[in-house]
Amino acid sequence: MGGSGSGIYGARLKEPKITVEQCKSLKIDQVKNIIDPNTRELPMRIDKDGESQNQVLGIDWTDCNFGGKRPWFVCPGCEDRKGKLYFRHEEFLCRTCHDLAYRRTQISGDRVSELDWKIQKVCRRLGILDEGWLNNVIPLIKPKNMHQTVYFRLLIILMYLKEKRTQEQIRKWKNFRWMYCKYS
Ligand SMILES: [Zn+2]
Repeated sequence: MGGSGSGIYGARLKEPKITVEQCKSLKIDQVKNIIDPNTRELPMRIDKDGESQNQVLGIDWTDCNFGGKRPWFVCPGCEDRKGKLYFRHEEFLCRTCHDLAYRRTQISGDRVSELDWKIQKVCRRLGILDEGWLNNVIPLIKPKNMHQTVYFRLLIILMYLKEKRTQEQIRKWKNFRWMYCKYS
């Protein structure tokens, strides 16, 4: 560590963050077929510049709402369950541990994209894995193992975020029209 891109936080504020698009990523879907619910560890061999190195990735499983089990990576940095890991500084870690930004949020400072990301995160906890979070799908089935109060709190957060997203979207459109009227 300690290279030009990995300084203290103060220094990092000035220079743009490395984005997820700039890193090689590994989705859990890509290894789905070579693991089964008994798999707890996945040894990886990383070939780079003619040299190879090994990293063992932890695998965890959760119950799906409609039966079956869903695999996750266990991030070696924070030990959180993640659907995607990124390769940087010779190791696979999650987006947060590598301190990566999303290009779209970074370039535009776009509140709507930011809210989308938050909504997606809550939805994932509620077990909504498709694009339903963008539509008006309200999860009426509490995920197994989730406490009732947590479930209701997440539903309220989800409704709040969706409402906020609508407001931001309207604000964006209004600004756009204002600009259009002004310059035409
Ligand atoms: Zn992590």
